[in-house]
Amino acid sequence: MNPDRPIAELFACGRHLRSLEFFPPKDDAGVAALRVTAEALRRMGPDFVSVTYGAGGTTRDRTAQVSALLKGEFGFTVMPHLTCVGHKRGDLEELADQIHAQGFRNIMALRGDPPKGVTEFPVLPDGFRHAAELVALLKRRHPNFCLGVAGYPEKHPEAPSLEADLTHLKRKVDAGADFITTQLFFDNAVYYRFVERCRAEGITVPIVPGIMPVLSLKQIQRFTQLCGSTLPAQLTARLEVAADNPDVMEMVGIDWALHQIRGLLANGAPGYHLYILNRAGGALALSAGLDA
Ligand SMILES: Cc1cc2nc3c(=O)[nH]c(=O)nc-3n(C[C@H](O)[C@H](O)[C@H](O)COP(=O)(O)OP(=O)(O)OC[C@H]3O[C@@H](n4cnc5c(N)ncnc54)[C@H](O)[C@@H]3O)c2cc1C
Repeated sequence: MNPDRPIAELFACGRHLRSLEFFPPKDDAGVAALRVTAEALRRMGPDFVSVTYGAGGTTRDRTAQVSALLKGEFGFTVMPHLTCVGHKRGDLEELADQIHAQGFRNIMALRGDPPKGVTEFPVLPDGFRHAAELVALLKRRHPNFCLGVAGYPEKHPEAPSLEADLTHLKRKVDAGADFITTQLFFDNAVYYRFVERCRAEGITVPIVPGIMPVLSLKQIQRFTQLCGSTLPAQLTARLEVAADNPDVMEMVGIDWALHQIRGLLANGAPGYHLYILNRAGGALALSAGLDA
């Protein structure tokens, strides 16, 4: 397959980049549904799409399958995610070579979360403890990989402080990361403070805000509890008004995300990354609203 354009080159063009995150469905019916979603999203012309890597070792082959599908059938520039979970150095080298041979030139390099029910990150004898090690391996192996890494405006849940987390984020960038995509957040002030602190730390790469258009109050309460992001009281109150009406709930979520993105782009964000949960509606509505 033709090699993708490195995303760093797209950032260098100076326009706002729009990207979308897919997760690999568990079964073939899910893959069929994803094709329908991808077809709908082709109209909005994202600059690139990413495909998550199964948490705790699940759905990994599907990441490769879905990445190939989105690149081959839909012509998207695809950034597969890769994590260190359950992999030894040799596995990661092999995976890096496969990804490169398939024409992908962008990878989101992550440590990953511990498998379900395990609190401490399990490191294999010849495995990695931190994402910075994966970044270094990928850059050494294929210097023309463009690498994204994760950043946490409200700090990573395991980090003792934001300062410590920023020191570790800087290590990922020093190891070769080309840009940062943030964990989801709902208050732009959190992102602005984070960017300021990153710059003070000497982190100069683009920092892409990760935005999730909320679909349901229950679901977002669960997500934010897991990832440590704050759900503003004002957003919660609006979602509570929508109560059990999913359509209204979704409208509230899109409206909030629309305001967030308008503010972010007006205040220097290099673009935005949407956590779309494999649904087209929110991304299309946002795209239409932002182009208006
Ligand atoms: C944009 C984005 C995409 C994601 N995609 C996926 C996915 O596809 N699959 C998946 O399973 N998960 C995904 N995650 C979740 C991610 O894997 C978890 O948040 C994971 O717990 C940390 O991964 P990391 O790459 O940020 O790890 P790291 O950067 O390694 O950081 C993990 C923790 O270790 C600390 N740390 C780092 N280096 C050091 C050091 N040298 N010494 C001491 N402490 C250190 C950090 O401060 C942090 O607390 C994603 C998260 C984001 C924001």
